[in-house]
Amino acid sequence: MGRVALVTGGSRGIGEAISKALKAEGYEVAATYAGNDEKAAAFTKETGIKTYKWNVADYEASAAGIAKVEADLGPIEVVVANAGITRDAPFHRMTPEQWKEVIETHLNTLHPVWPGMRERKFGRVIVISSINGQKGQFAQVNYAATKAGDLGIVKSLAQEGARAGITANAVCPGYIATEMVMAVPEKVRESIIAQIPAGRLGEPEEIARCVVFLASDDAGFINGSTISANGAQFFV
Ligand code: NDP
Repeated sequence: MGRVALVTGGSRGIGEAISKALKAEGYEVAATYAGNDEKAAAFTKETGIKTYKWNVADYEASAAGIAKVEADLGPIEVVVANAGITRDAPFHRMTPEQWKEVIETHLNTLHPVWPGMRERKFGRVIVISSINGQKGQFAQVNYAATKAGDLGIVKSLAQEGARAGITANAVCPGYIATEMVMAVPEKVRESIIAQIPAGRLGEPEEIARCVVFLASDDAGFINGSTISANGAQFFV
């Protein structure tokens, strides 16, 4: 049996590509989702990957969900914090609900898996941040705050986990062709692509390959790092 990998938001979009890529590498994958039962069922039917439904913004639900995954599959050795949402508005029009929903969804996943990784002296934490956490973005103060927060999280966890055989790294995707990006009006999407020197959106599989590498034994000395995959749109 391969290592157990948990991918939050793993049933569609970038997460779906990550779940499939990890499975192809021999991992025992559990994919979580929030509410899209139909897509999750189709994903399981296609891939054979088990899905689990909980709201990552709810700490107790996350802890209970993680316990269930571990009871079903064994200890989680790789966690990919990928689930994410946008609730965009210029700051002066952003509602407290838009602020709270994004902050809570993005910064709440990792704590319950950490003690087990420390005890077993092995872990791979991979957080899917964003180019907009690196450079900021108009109408995304909430989103950029959490995605920049992800980078602080992995740098801190890297220092805490290094002696216990745990690495924590982030991937910052640029604009990727998922429902999240395809949902923006076509004109806006065209103006986004015009800002990408590669002249195209990224593919979810291009992010998945970064995750597979960071999860591997070969990446054991890479800790607290950020991989940017953005078609040359932004350099840190
Ligand atoms: P999608 O909207 O395509 O998929 C989001 C996934 O997250 C779904 O599986 C969804 O579940 C799940 N999810 C959302 N909210 C919750 C929640 N509260 N609890 C549990 N699961 C939840 O997103 P993308 O694939 O585009 O994005 C994935 C990650 O990559 C996000 O963190 C995003 O911020 C980041 N990112 C994306 C970029 C892009 O261009 N697409 C660029 C940079 C970063 P359900 O199916 O049930 O709704």
